[in-house]
Amino acid sequence: MPDTARYRKIDLHSHSTRSDGKLSPTALVDLAVEQNVSLFALTDHDTIDGVAEASLRSAEHGLSFIHGVELSTQWNGIPLHMVALNFSLDNSALLSIVKGNQAIRLDRARRIADLLIKQGLPDLFDEAIALAGESQLGRPHFAQLLIEKGVVKDANKAFDRYLGNKKLGQIRDVWPDLEAVLGALSGHNMELVLAHPKRYPLTVSKLKRLLGDFKRWGGTGMEVASGNERPDSVRLLERLSREFGLKASAGSDYHGPFGPWMQVGKFTQIHESEVDLVWQTWP
Ligand code: AMP
Ligand code: MN
Ligand code: MN
Ligand code: MN
Repeated sequence: MPDTARYRKIDLHSHSTRSDGKLSPTALVDLAVEQNVSLFALTDHDTIDGVAEASLRSAEHGLSFIHGVELSTQWNGIPLHMVALNFSLDNSALLSIVKGNQAIRLDRARRIADLLIKQGLPDLFDEAIALAGESQLGRPHFAQLLIEKGVVKDANKAFDRYLGNKKLGQIRDVWPDLEAVLGALSGHNMELVLAHPKRYPLTVSKLKRLLGDFKRWGGTGMEVASGNERPDSVRLLERLSREFGLKASAGSDYHGPFGPWMQVGKFTQIHESEVDLVWQTWP
């Protein structure tokens, strides 16, 4: 394998206005090009609605573009995110999971609104739907409404006080099981990557159990860097990537121009020669 596949600027995790990102798919691709990214994936939460637009724009720029989506799942009651990459847009197994998760989002939003009502807030359901518009309805929309209404001063507070996993109780356990999602998608000619493994409430030994399950159930990769992760976390994840035979992926998880040095194409440096890369053979 020539070294040209290595050391190019990639980003395999990003969000547009089709989920909870701030930029349209077109504007996001333009920014990726401006940031000298040469291999890019759009991975909106539970939707591939932005992929065709981003793909078209990428072609105009000559940017290598990979179809992606970030799927919501759960493992032992813990909500987990999985990034599917490099699939065909007419893959019916994937479309069926995406459709199912979209229905869950709507149902969950009703339950979140009810939970907020119980805490003395007005019914935000209709406003959340209106605010989401064409994008996948999610907790960030509720967070924005709580800010606009002066209930909290920023999104962090909204998650701390009302929307975080700890606050959601049973509304946390709505997503399809990881085993079922991997079972439905493995063997369907796509990469199945565990997103940001350090962002879950897991000890290292529990994380290893998760990675064992992930691999056994058909997962093919794991992110070893996600945004501004600590370098020692990246080191640990690189080791685990080798130990569990899960190919390394990486991305900014860009949502918009906010947060600590969040930028398209930017994530903590990884040691590309020490792991198998998910994008090794991609054009
Ligand atoms: P959902 O997909 O509806 O479960 O919402 C989860 C999304 O909320 C994540 O993808 C993040 O973009 C965002 N999020 C999670 N925690 C926070 C936080 N503490 N502050 C701001 N946004 C957050
Ligand atoms: Mn998000
Ligand atoms: Mn995520
Ligand atoms: Mn993400």
